[in-house]
Amino acid sequence: MHDVIIIGAGPAGLSTALWCDELGLDTLVLEQAEQIGGQLHRVHNPIENYLGVKARNGDEFVDLFANSIEAAEFDLWMEVVISSVDLKAKRVSLASGEILQSIAIVIASGVSPRELGVPGEKEFVGKGIIESGTRDRKLFAGHDVCVVGGGDAAVENALLLAEVCPTVTLVHRGKKLRARREFRERLQSTHCITVFTEAVLTRIIGDETVQAVEIHRKAGLKPFQLAVRGVLIRIGVEPNTQFFREQLETDEKGYIKVSSTQETNVPMVFAVGDVSNPLAPTISSAVGAGATAAKVIAARLNAGQ
Ligand SMILES: Cc1cc2nc3c(=O)[nH]c(=O)nc-3n(C[C@H](O)[C@H](O)[C@H](O)COP(=O)(O)OP(=O)(O)OC[C@H]3O[C@@H](n4cnc5c(N)ncnc54)[C@H](O)[C@@H]3O)c2cc1C
Repeated sequence: MHDVIIIGAGPAGLSTALWCDELGLDTLVLEQAEQIGGQLHRVHNPIENYLGVKARNGDEFVDLFANSIEAAEFDLWMEVVISSVDLKAKRVSLASGEILQSIAIVIASGVSPRELGVPGEKEFVGKGIIESGTRDRKLFAGHDVCVVGGGDAAVENALLLAEVCPTVTLVHRGKKLRARREFRERLQSTHCITVFTEAVLTRIIGDETVQAVEIHRKAGLKPFQLAVRGVLIRIGVEPNTQFFREQLETDEKGYIKVSSTQETNVPMVFAVGDVSNPLAPTISSAVGAGATAAKVIAARLNAGQ
């Protein structure tokens, strides 16, 4: 029996754990990945917007987390596969057969990149699927590439790739790009970028590596193929709430609804970080939400609730 079980060891989960530990709570963190840090491993730009800390990239930021939690005494289980969670009963069942019980549960499971769900998307990971314009552009310099999406992340990556690639084709299913004005203006003056709106990428084609993509422009028209060596997909993120959706209140996209104390509509079940914050998903807000949840849980347990 633990006081608190925390699901996820990204910034939100680790901040919650650090605070729970300091407040004397018996705390267990369950993480499915091999390493702590969550999405930070996908950040290849410098992080300069977290007060008091500057890091060259997400990995460097995670190293600082590792230092912070070194002396803490909470339990951290890595590469855990959760098979089910009963939020009301505060019971977590693992694929290994273990059943864990706590007084409070904190969901800190973050978000994952949304997938296109087209043939080739999974097969060509590491063989032409571009993970990051910043990190991978040297690899794709001199090659034609395609970017899918219409928001800030897609357009920013298209602009980055356009600095080194002869052509960049941006495919967006909506009528208008959603990216901020500054990016849209830069797009207009970047002549090697072609934008297809109201278009969908339907297939990624290749043998050993990506050779082409199939694009469908309008219903009724035949799809056409475009020769490219790389594809970068940025079509948003999805909250990791598959285990919980039926058991608590979420918005229409699956983000968990919380009160100002980070509590969900299920008593003693809290949600912190991006999984409950569609509007302001940042490291600072994730870490702050973790501190709030831990303080509230400690106060409740001390009051004997
Ligand atoms: C490219 C990029 C750049 C960014 N730049 C910045 C920036 O400059 N500044 C900034 O403040 N923010 C930035 N962010 C956002 C920041 O990374 C997130 O806001 C932050 O990581 C959210 O932390 P989190 O703990 O809520 O979620 P996550 O970081 O998503 O962590 C969630 C953790 O939960 C684990 N998990 C999920 N499901 C389960 C499960 N079933 N069982 C066990 N574990 C599970 C995941 O493996 C993961 O480790 C950036 C994000 C990206 C992708």
